[in-house]
Amino acid sequence: NKAPFKTAYKVLNKLHQHGFDAYIVGGAVRDYILNRPVHDIDITTSARPDQVQALFSKTIPVGIEHGTVIVREEGANFEVTTFRSESGYADYRHPEQVYFETSITEDLKRRDFTMNAIALSIDGGIIDPYNGQHDLKENRLMTVGDPEVRFKEDPLRMLRGLRFMSQLGLDMPLALENTCRELAPLLKNISVERIYQEFTKLLKGKNLQKAFHILLNNDIHQYLPCLKDKQSECRQFSALSLEKLLSDEERWCALMIQLDINDIAGFCRAWKMSKKQKNWLLKHTAIYRQQKQHEWTRESLYRSGLSSALSVERLKKAFRDQTGQTEADIINLWDKMPIHDRKHLHINGKDLSRWLQRKPGPWIEQLLSKIEGEVLCGRLQNDYEEIKRWVMSFV
Ligand code: ATP
Ligand code: MG
Repeated sequence: NKAPFKTAYKVLNKLHQHGFDAYIVGGAVRDYILNRPVHDIDITTSARPDQVQALFSKTIPVGIEHGTVIVREEGANFEVTTFRSESGYADYRHPEQVYFETSITEDLKRRDFTMNAIALSIDGGIIDPYNGQHDLKENRLMTVGDPEVRFKEDPLRMLRGLRFMSQLGLDMPLALENTCRELAPLLKNISVERIYQEFTKLLKGKNLQKAFHILLNNDIHQYLPCLKDKQSECRQFSALSLEKLLSDEERWCALMIQLDINDIAGFCRAWKMSKKQKNWLLKHTAIYRQQKQHEWTRESLYRSGLSSALSVERLKKAFRDQTGQTEADIINLWDKMPIHDRKHLHINGKDLSRWLQRKPGPWIEQLLSKIEGEVLCGRLQNDYEEIKRWVMSFV
């Protein structure tokens, strides 16, 4: 678990050698303390963004006005942010003003939860002015400072809190829950993109049911796109076997299926999903609805393709729709199919046109599709001469 920190410490050392203060902060420290896998490591420093850029050879300015520069070192990216505090949040998106600070404690004060406000110093010491470690031990989510003030500043923090509950299995103290209930309407002011990001992480968490319990009991879902008045559907969703699902798309798909969404495209638009994701969800909700309670046949498997079929099968498992067919059975069925795609046919439209001496037209598509079906079910061999004989036998 320590390996990813090695390179981070090189970055810290370099900053120190040039007279700047620097710490590892945020999720990496929290996950390290919890002995969970560490993803990306954030660094906070007294150096200003231009000073960071001058010091390292590979940097990407991602948010200079907020004090953030990405430093690329030994193939890893580190978000290096200048100590800062914030004020304003008039638009609920960005703080009105960012002040660069000189001390780590001021920087930790602006952070959302106590467990996210812990810093690791260059000598391996832990700086934890808000007792984040204690709260982690008690398994509870606590804001840095008064929750009412902090949630009013940035209402997204309520949703972040729920996603940390889902990821880490934390409890939400009653006082925090009550503040969420009272301030949930402020989520209306938050951009859908930010909500989408947190909600996608919430969906992935092992303790989703716990987070959904708080979400629904306090009417927070009422302020999320397309979830208004869907309390009981959401409750059912949270009881699915979601651990069977392997991607964000599969999890969103399960949600749409449980909510019985008809206008999938509209749902995706409301959540501002990418076109790629929208297309995936359109395709897979449709396949799911056709396949519900049915076993895969050569035809249905051929039409969806193996990877889509396996996704849909996982969704069926999540909904406990068991047909007795296992994943291995489906793969086996696929492997035994004579063709997996029309382009695997040993003839094409041009051949048909030549053999039958007919101008190309819609008839080609119809005939190809017929041949495809015959080959797929094994009535016709996928062989040039065989297919030619079969076609000519009709003239
Ligand atoms: P993850 O493992 O999902 O990356 P994380 O805690 O690193 O979790 P990020 O969204 O990457 O979460 O944010 C990094 C850090 O920045 C947080 O740990 C927290 O200290 C601070 N932070 C992020 N968003 C906010 C916010 N809306 N309000 C206050 N502090 C925040
Ligand atoms: Mg992070």
